[in-house]
Amino acid sequence: MFEIVYRYDPEHPQAVSPPRDAAEARRRLEDGNRDFAHVFDGVMQSRKGALRRIVPFDPRDLGVSNGGGEPLKQQPFAVVLGCSDARVPTELVFNQWCNELFVVRVAGNVLGSEVLGSIDYAVTQLGNSVKLLVVLAHSGCGAVTAAVDVFLKPAGYLEFAGSHPLRTIIDRIVVVTRGADRALNRVHGGGVTARPGYRRALIETTVALNGALTAFTLKRELRHRQNSPEGIAVFYGVYDLGSRCVHLPGIGERCGGGPVTRLSEPPAGVEAFDALARTLAASERIAHVLAEP
Ligand SMILES: [Zn+2]
Repeated sequence: MFEIVYRYDPEHPQAVSPPRDAAEARRRLEDGNRDFAHVFDGVMQSRKGALRRIVPFDPRDLGVSNGGGEPLKQQPFAVVLGCSDARVPTELVFNQWCNELFVVRVAGNVLGSEVLGSIDYAVTQLGNSVKLLVVLAHSGCGAVTAAVDVFLKPAGYLEFAGSHPLRTIIDRIVVVTRGADRALNRVHGGGVTARPGYRRALIETTVALNGALTAFTLKRELRHRQNSPEGIAVFYGVYDLGSRCVHLPGIGERCGGGPVTRLSEPPAGVEAFDALARTLAASERIAHVLAEP
């Protein structure tokens, strides 16, 4: 049995101080994901015994006041742009409580104007508390899979002829798929498209590059929004549905049998993007996927 218990003790409230800067905010998210990813391991492997996880919380963060006073202000320490996929619940993935993350979710974690407007609001209006922006991509993404399938069989684009909103999502991702395809061809040769796992390798490479591109674009779009010469801190990562870790598949460190949680900075420009695409394509992970039927 596994229990997750939210606990508040009015006699001994556990106040969690907000992160002081971007580095501390990043650590808190990485530590939170590490806890989330590994807490299930024992139960899932042994399938016996009981495990209880206690999550301390403050009901005032939900707007519950203890004397008719004003509810607490919105004070997220990070903005997270993630996919709408129901298997990737943002707060749980990073082991955070409410009023800690400002979350925007859209299929394929693409940057449309409403998404960008929401994030812009958070940065400009909640800038005193927001220390970090994170783009959270994920493995097995349906939006990326649809874009890859259109890339491989362009006739499939006709299926989206009647839906402009769906086409805008596909169109944004197909550009990234083209770059992923080019990297796979350069690293593995022209015959890569005939390899049994090519489609899946293309999906995995596109997922990571799409997260990187969205983070890069976000950093550029919001570069004048903070009074810092470097602009606002933006990171990205890929949530792996299998291991529950946020990392860069194939190129992150590994610990024991699984990956190590890590958020990455987006590439700085064309050459860095090219290097990232090649590194992803040349990873053991992608070589393994290419060989799989
Ligand atoms: Zn998705």
